[in-house]
Amino acid sequence: MSELKLFNSLTRQLETFTPVHAGEARVYTCGPTVYNYPHIGNMRAYVFADTLGRVLSYKGYKLTHVINITDVGHLTDDADAGEDKMEKMAAEKAQSIWDIARHYTEAYWADIKALNIRQPAHWSIATDYVPAMIDYAVSIADTHCYELDSGLYFDTSTVAHYGSLARVKTEDGEGRIEEVDGKRHAADFAIWRKTPAGETRQMEWDSPWGKGAPGWHLECSVMSEALLGLPFDIHTGGIDHREIHHPNEIAQNQARCGSDHSGAQFWMHNNFLIERSGKMSKSSGEFLRVQLLIDKGFHPLAYRLMCLQAHYRSELEFSWEGLQAAFVRLKRMVMGVEKIREFTTSRPDGNSADDAGFLSSFEEEISNDLNTSNALAIFEIVLGRTDVKPSERLKVLQAMDAVLGLNVLVVNRTDLRIRPKAAIITEAEIETALTARKEARAAKDFAKSDAIRDDLIAKGVEVMDGDPLGWDWKLDI
Ligand code: AMP
Ligand code: ZN
Repeated sequence: MSELKLFNSLTRQLETFTPVHAGEARVYTCGPTVYNYPHIGNMRAYVFADTLGRVLSYKGYKLTHVINITDVGHLTDDADAGEDKMEKMAAEKAQSIWDIARHYTEAYWADIKALNIRQPAHWSIATDYVPAMIDYAVSIADTHCYELDSGLYFDTSTVAHYGSLARVKTEDGEGRIEEVDGKRHAADFAIWRKTPAGETRQMEWDSPWGKGAPGWHLECSVMSEALLGLPFDIHTGGIDHREIHHPNEIAQNQARCGSDHSGAQFWMHNNFLIERSGKMSKSSGEFLRVQLLIDKGFHPLAYRLMCLQAHYRSELEFSWEGLQAAFVRLKRMVMGVEKIREFTTSRPDGNSADDAGFLSSFEEEISNDLNTSNALAIFEIVLGRTDVKPSERLKVLQAMDAVLGLNVLVVNRTDLRIRPKAAIITEAEIETALTARKEARAAKDFAKSDAIRDDLIAKGVEVMDGDPLGWDWKLDI
């Protein structure tokens, strides 16, 4: 078995994974703030965390994965500026925060399912943990915090090497603007935000510092410690969290368990999905959500494949052409599996898959900081190795797909045919037209067959005569 090497953002190096508890892997992933739909960039963070979890399971660790749902406390700025995202959206929509949270949590879970992301052991909901957050804040208040009119603040000078994850110097709190009167250091952050006098918030709780709500950074420290214990193995999030949110979690964890420990052995971050025309902004009209991809006729697993084609630490540029290419690749994989299935009865013999060492090469790739792009290439090599017994190839592919999560042994050709929402013709109508065209061609009535084809083209359907993959038609997107 290859050693599992993972890139640790703390040291900016590849390190060998050795679990805190033998045979186990405990992973915490910063979840979404459920004030709006997640965009596909957000979902890249969960495809990454899911792939990591699948690799850990593949390598035999008993995985405990926690993803939180932030339904309180995340301000419009990751530091202490701005309004609570949930309060703001609730006011805009004139709905209760609880309704907003429920709606967007469900939308997020629908995307999780569509991308074949496995369910974590726990979805921890921040508002369920407020009493635990208050207890936690009390436990560190005297030694690490100070109170201002606006809340209880964490004094970042009370822990060693504050901000080392972000490579920020404590003194200058690089890139931070001091927004709050009386803060001792620019990087200090609120762990409890008091409700301003004379105001009532939709979400507020009593605390030793008066009515208020927890700070966002506090939530993750409390939930990770409560569900995984300190220290745990791996903490994940998008690369933006390396700058403020995770250094602040680390400071709190240090306050709890000593300056030597950040709370997790590994801090891992996925890089961003980039989209240059601004469609990933949640305020743009046609904003890039998984549902939009489906509405345009893409199977959501094509997006998962697009993510896996890039290394999680590289930026990935989104384009419709790129997604189309990933979709074609996914179709080829699904059809490749279907072909092998046919061969299990028609040509059952061949060499042993073990001799080819597919699984050991695959494991080597995924153990090298999740090199999914090379792992995909090995998957496709197996698809093409007609000299190996089909039944063994299927077994190998199944084992690999447990890591890739593309579901290619379950999804079939028909599942991949998703009609764009805007299409003006149904699949049944297309099939009827194609049958009529076949009949016209058989009767050598080429004028009729051309007329049918032209009519289909006018309706956005391209007829694919002689397609090497055997597809009859595709929608023009
Ligand atoms: P949020 O709901 O804003 O807390 O974000 C949820 C997750 O998505 C976090 O882990 C972010 O770091 C991550 N994220 C945000 N934007 C992107 C992006 N464009 N590409 C990849 N990950 C992102
Ligand atoms: Zn978090």
